[in-house]
Amino acid sequence: MSVQYIKGVGPKRAAKLKKLNIETVEDLLYYFPREYEDRTRFKYLPQCIDGEKVSLRVQICGYPSKLKPRKNLSILKIPVKDEYGYGTLVWFNQDYAANRLAMGDRIVVYGKVNIHGREIQIINPVYDKDGSKNVGRIVPIYPLRDNLTNNEMIKIVKNAIKDHLGIVKEALPKSLREELNLMDIQQAIINIHFPKDRKHYLEARRRLVFEELLTLQLGLLLIKRRTKELNRGIKFPHVEEINTFIDNLPFKLTNAQLRVFEEIERDMEREEQMNRLVQGDVGSGKTIVAILAMFKAWKSGYQSVMMAPTEILATQHFESISKFFSGYEIRCELLVGSLSNKKKDEILKDLKDGKIDILVGTHAVIQDKVEFYKLGLAITDEQHRFGVKQRALLSQKGESPDVLVMTATPIPRTLALILYGDLDISIIDELPPGRKEIETYVVGPRLIGRVHNFVKKQLLQGRQAYIVCPLIEESDVLDVKSAEELYRSLKDDVYRDFNIGLLHGKMKPSEKEYIMERFNNKELDILVSTTVIEVGVNVPNANVMVIHNAERFGLAQLHQLRGRVGRGKYQSYCILINESNSKISRERMRILQKSTDGFLISEKDLELRGPGEFFGTRQHGLPDLKIANLFTDMDILRLAQKKAREILEEDHLLVDDKHLFLRQNIIRLFKDRINDLIFN
Ligand code: ADP
Ligand code: MG
Repeated sequence: MSVQYIKGVGPKRAAKLKKLNIETVEDLLYYFPREYEDRTRFKYLPQCIDGEKVSLRVQICGYPSKLKPRKNLSILKIPVKDEYGYGTLVWFNQDYAANRLAMGDRIVVYGKVNIHGREIQIINPVYDKDGSKNVGRIVPIYPLRDNLTNNEMIKIVKNAIKDHLGIVKEALPKSLREELNLMDIQQAIINIHFPKDRKHYLEARRRLVFEELLTLQLGLLLIKRRTKELNRGIKFPHVEEINTFIDNLPFKLTNAQLRVFEEIERDMEREEQMNRLVQGDVGSGKTIVAILAMFKAWKSGYQSVMMAPTEILATQHFESISKFFSGYEIRCELLVGSLSNKKKDEILKDLKDGKIDILVGTHAVIQDKVEFYKLGLAITDEQHRFGVKQRALLSQKGESPDVLVMTATPIPRTLALILYGDLDISIIDELPPGRKEIETYVVGPRLIGRVHNFVKKQLLQGRQAYIVCPLIEESDVLDVKSAEELYRSLKDDVYRDFNIGLLHGKMKPSEKEYIMERFNNKELDILVSTTVIEVGVNVPNANVMVIHNAERFGLAQLHQLRGRVGRGKYQSYCILINESNSKISRERMRILQKSTDGFLISEKDLELRGPGEFFGTRQHGLPDLKIANLFTDMDILRLAQKKAREILEEDHLLVDDKHLFLRQNIIRLFKDRINDLIFN
């Protein structure tokens, strides 16, 4: 039903609403307030505090005065009083109140207090003469633009609720609502727009969040099932030789690695396409698991591809893969942007002809011109650096190849189920034995001299060190030491007797590679770097990680950086230089000092910083949520996941009458992926 059916909405307003993506009455009812202003608490004038927003009952006690100090500025002032004091209502560029308010009028106002000398001013107040409307109650504030005022919006929503609330259908079965104590949908809609009090608001919100997350989870489960049923993948044979290969590895696989590989093996031997995420903390040994899968693919006559987010990492994978396969007739090539055209052409040709078994590379591997002969396995490393789209592009390089994605970003399982909704999840929750726990220290900038001495001592024992700084360019606002500046000062001064290299994101790939190679070969003792070394880099002899301005990093990021050391047999150290005195900073540093558990750290990080910088939901291909927040509504999410599974167990295609509206909700939420949904 078009919004034009709502009283007060003509073509003009309809056009404005359309810009907010509101076209139907239902869209409007589900267009929730961004926040609320509690105008229920009244004060007297002398109680007003500078800067706060207040509701007041006042009487006009003087004549309006208008000022026009500049061409584009007019100021209207009207004196008021209440039982205990005097004040002034002040409007900027809004003169109309002058004609509507008269001496002696009693009004209710709401606005921001500005104490100007001894004058109590209420700035740009909304007011109400007859004691109804939007003063003295909880008022919804809508996210608006384009000349539609909040008051207009309130009127429209009120009319819609009055005349058309019946079109909102209850999607949650009665039994479920009773079990979870959720209010019915119509009550929830009324109370989310116009809550009587905070309690009603919270209950309405809880109900709507639950419904939204349930819909999301149901949709994802249905998509996953459909993908499984449709995508006939490759049925790989059982490869017995894999056991010999495992026995000949220079180390014994951990139980977690073995378990995860078994899960992968089982997937690969099934007819359905594998879509599996391997989550494992830094250093848990994900690469070798991927290598085993590639071995299996090769033995079965298929090509594999592995995509990594940086050239450094791709190169490193290429080298270690080549090493592990050195006794076999396996041809592995590296495809990165910095290769010569001649070499690239050669690789592309051989790849297409099936002469290359394994291709490792950066984004370069998803370019159009890259064609495989018979791609059977597509692996993405450090998945969080790529979007769903790139992952999809990679698997489209073959005919339903099995897909493996790996990530070191430890996110709570509840969230992983949503963010990676269409993937099965394996977790490597065990580090290889013999790793010494990394010792983490937090120091202030004054102790930098001692840090240098400590690093030198390690270098003299033959070890290597990373020194990380946050940004490459000198920032105007923040006194960040740029990598270049830091590099120069260290090289010519404290560490002049050592070999020191610089690595940052603005360098050419070939330069980066050269530096990494020299660090790898121990030609360099120290690598000064920006966060480009954050992902995946593996130099076991390096055992010290010094991080400048550690307070500027996210905890999860610091944890990743710390994971660059502790990879060999030497005791490793991470030294965080905290230049901030704030309590939060110190608290954050303490978390890292106390814990090496990536899951715990990332949960704390989410708590302290919020999810914003961590994951965009969009990037994960999720629909936009109207009201739920995946991070702060974790409890409700857990509940919704449990109920979603129960519902599908009972009615696995959602065909039961009582699920009719739930089904429609799913279709609405997933309108962009309608073809992926199972009931089509
Ligand atoms: P990540 O999970 O961070 O990608 P890697 O796969 O790079 O970790 O492994 C880190 C290091 O541990 C590598 O040098 C790898 O060879 C080594 N490694 C992996 N598995 C084991 C194991 N079971 N025992 C000992 N070392 C291992
Ligand atoms: Mg890795």
